[in-house]
Amino acid sequence: MAVRAIAVLGSTGSIGLSTLDVIARHPDRYSVFALTAHTRVQELFEQCVAYRPVHAVLGSEKAAGQLRKLCKEHGLSVEVHHGPDALNQVASDTAVDTVVAAIVGAAGLLSTLAAAQAGKRILLANKEALVMSGQLLMQAAKASGALIMPVDSEHNAIFQSLPATKEGVSTAGIEKILLTASGGPLRNLTQEELAVVTPQQALKHPNWSMGPKISIDSATMMNKGLEVIEACQLFDVNVDDVQVVVHPESIIHSMVSYADGSVIAQMGRPDMRTPIAHALAWPERISSGVQPLNLFEVSGLHFEEPDTIRFPLLRLAFEAQREGGTAPTILNAANEVVVDAFLNERVAFLQLSELVEQTLACSKISPASDLSTIIEADSLARETVQRLITQIAV
Ligand code: NAD
Ligand code: MG
Repeated sequence: MAVRAIAVLGSTGSIGLSTLDVIARHPDRYSVFALTAHTRVQELFEQCVAYRPVHAVLGSEKAAGQLRKLCKEHGLSVEVHHGPDALNQVASDTAVDTVVAAIVGAAGLLSTLAAAQAGKRILLANKEALVMSGQLLMQAAKASGALIMPVDSEHNAIFQSLPATKEGVSTAGIEKILLTASGGPLRNLTQEELAVVTPQQALKHPNWSMGPKISIDSATMMNKGLEVIEACQLFDVNVDDVQVVVHPESIIHSMVSYADGSVIAQMGRPDMRTPIAHALAWPERISSGVQPLNLFEVSGLHFEEPDTIRFPLLRLAFEAQREGGTAPTILNAANEVVVDAFLNERVAFLQLSELVEQTLACSKISPASDLSTIIEADSLARETVQRLITQIAV
């Protein structure tokens, strides 16, 4: 069996760490070609020591210089680079078989697109790339023969619940995609309680341990909204064929309901190493380090309808996807900015959805036909929401 060379983009993040944990269990199958981080030099250095990549990429020249120095002092022959072009380069290098797209936010778009154009197997965690530019990414993958494997646990579950074809999966005969949601850490709070939620409260997810941006998105349920759009793009289904089901235990990771009344679900412990191992090895199966699910320990499986009154960002995501064009791009860009502002205590929890809604209302929606239109819509939305933020006081 040939050893597959992997580029892990965003290797110091939550998904990056889980990926390296799985890869380390299978040195006979996988080798690390490139590791990338934004600012965390020391962590990336430690990963270089452990995984001996050919290339490492950081966000700035200064950070790259620091890593280069550390590698030299320790006799490591890693080629160190910095910036977006270097990310694109390692994502599309001919030596690479698999690219793990685990950068958070729009910052991951161009490298994911480069991997798609270069025909790689892409382990897609970076859902924002697909939300802002789904059509372009899917078209690029189709044209080059790239295989996009969903790592997001719900989409990986859907993939596993659909019939496999040579190119991936087929949605023939499906009635609905049932996208499960934990409901996040604030699921049971009243509107009054939500009004005074702090970043610390919102960051505490009951079932999953994740990076700060996606943790806040889980608290607002925007994560589920982004995932609705992600599902439409990945599986080429209509937004109204996706139903969100709140399932607080996070044991069922999503389901597919078929025309004949069958419902197929994928279950497992809430540990991202399961979807990562699945996406790495598909159509084979490999161990992931995750303990088997003990059903006798599961207290019960519960299901509720989502509440879009308390969590309006979920409604806005459905609306943006129905509207199409650059509406999801604008939704995503405004959300990234407001999440950052909330984490820095510049806006209150309930203002997150208000600001995104206002940004969408005053933005021009265009057909999302090319990359420059998407990038322009993204930056205009960021400017608009920044302006709206400066007009309000917490
Ligand atoms: P994280 O914040 O833990 O890690 C983000 C990684 O991206 C880090 O390695 C960081 O160095 C890098 N990065 C950040 N900004 C960058 C920039 N401007 N340029 C280059 N690199 C940059 O995030 P995470 O929780 O691992 O999430 C990563 C992606 O995976 C997100 O899109 C998230 O929605 C998705 N995802 C995460 C989980 C999870 O369990 N954590 C589950 C499903 C999907
Ligand atoms: Mg998810």
